[in-house]
Amino acid sequence: MKIVSGFRVKLFFFKLNLKLVFFLIQKYGFGKQFKVKKAEIERFKEQFTIDKRFYKYLKHNNRVYFNCNIPGIPFTDFFERISNLASENQENHLSRLAIVQIGFTKKCPLNCEHCYEGKILNQPEAITLEEHKQIVAKLQQIGVPMIQFGGGEPLNRFNDLIEVLQLANTSSDFWIYSSGYGLTIEKAKQLKKAGLTGVSVSLDHYLESEHNAFRRNDKSFKLALEAIKNAQEAGLLSAMTICVTQSFCTLENLAAYHQLAFELEVPFVQLMEPRATGNYEGKDVKLNTEQFQILEHFYKNRNSDKKFKNFPIIQYTGYQQRNKSCGGAGNRYIYIDTDGYTMACPFCQNRKSHFLNGTLLTDINSLKEEGCELLN
Ligand code: SF4
Repeated sequence: MKIVSGFRVKLFFFKLNLKLVFFLIQKYGFGKQFKVKKAEIERFKEQFTIDKRFYKYLKHNNRVYFNCNIPGIPFTDFFERISNLASENQENHLSRLAIVQIGFTKKCPLNCEHCYEGKILNQPEAITLEEHKQIVAKLQQIGVPMIQFGGGEPLNRFNDLIEVLQLANTSSDFWIYSSGYGLTIEKAKQLKKAGLTGVSVSLDHYLESEHNAFRRNDKSFKLALEAIKNAQEAGLLSAMTICVTQSFCTLENLAAYHQLAFELEVPFVQLMEPRATGNYEGKDVKLNTEQFQILEHFYKNRNSDKKFKNFPIIQYTGYQQRNKSCGGAGNRYIYIDTDGYTMACPFCQNRKSHFLNGTLLTDINSLKEEGCELLN
C-alpha cells in the first residue's frame, strides 16, 4: 500500500492541470469556451474534495487513485472523458455518467441485518449472462469509467463475472462489492486476469463477534479477512466498506476500524450510512445529527491530518451529498437492480424502465427531477 500525501499530491495536480490546459486550448482555443470548460472541470473535481483539496492518493500500477469510487488516473481518453463527465449541459445526460453499479445476482449465502436486497435474495436470476454482457457493452459505449458489480454476492455468479469481464474493454475500472465469501486466491487471480480492478469487502466491525452477528454468520469475519488478503496477493486493489450503525458511530470505534484497515494494508475505507430499506425497512436506523457530525469530523480529520498520512483513504459519500450535492439520482450515478431496471441508487427505491430495452434518457431525467431521497 503506497499512500502518497503532501507536496507530491500538489505536484501531481500541478502537472495534471498543465496537461488539461494544453488539451483544452488545443480543442477550444483560448477563448470563452476554454474558460467555461475549465470552470466546469474545477467544479466537478470539487465534488470529491475536502475544502477544495485532495490530501492523499494511492499509487498502484502506474495509476493514481483518490478513492475507491474514482477510477485510476489516467484512464482511456482521460481529458476528453473528464470534460464530458464534468459537462453542465443538461442535454449530455449519458456522457455525464461516472459510476454505475449493477446488481449482478440475486444469490447470496448470507442474510445480513441491513441488506437492501434482503427481500429478493435467492429468487431466480432475472438478468441472463447475455444481458449482463450487453449492459456492460452499453455502459462502455456511453463512456462510463467506473462499473461496480454488487448483488447479492457477485462471486456467486463467478463464471459469468469472468466472462463479462473478459469481454469488456479496458476503458472502465471494474470493482466488485462482496462479503468476501468464497474469494479464494485462485478466484482472485482469475478475476485480476479477466480485468477486475478491485474488491470492496464488507466488514461491519473491527471485532469478529460483532461483525459475525451483523452478518448472521459465524465465519463471515474470517472469510472477509481472507478475501482481502487474497485480493491483495492477486494484485487487486482492496477496500473495506462498513455500514456505520447507530451503536457503532463513535470516534473510538471508527478509529479502531481505521487502525484495522491500516494493519491489513487496505488502502480505502468506505463509510456507509444505514438506510431504512430492504431488511431495515420501517426500522429506526437513521443516524442523528450528532452522529453525522462524528462521521464528517472523522472523514475530514483522518484524510487531512498529517498524523494519519499513511493511513487508508476514507470515502464518505454522505459528506458530499449533504455538503455539495448527491452524485446519484441520475446525476452522475445510477444503479441497475437485479432485474435490470434503472434506479437512483440501491437505497432510493424508485425503479424506472429496463436498462437495455427501456427509456434511459427519460429515466435519467425523471431520476434527476425526483432527486435524492436523502436530501428531500
Ligand atoms: S448485504 Fe450483501 S452479503 Fe449481506 S445478505 Fe445482502 S447481498 Fe448478501
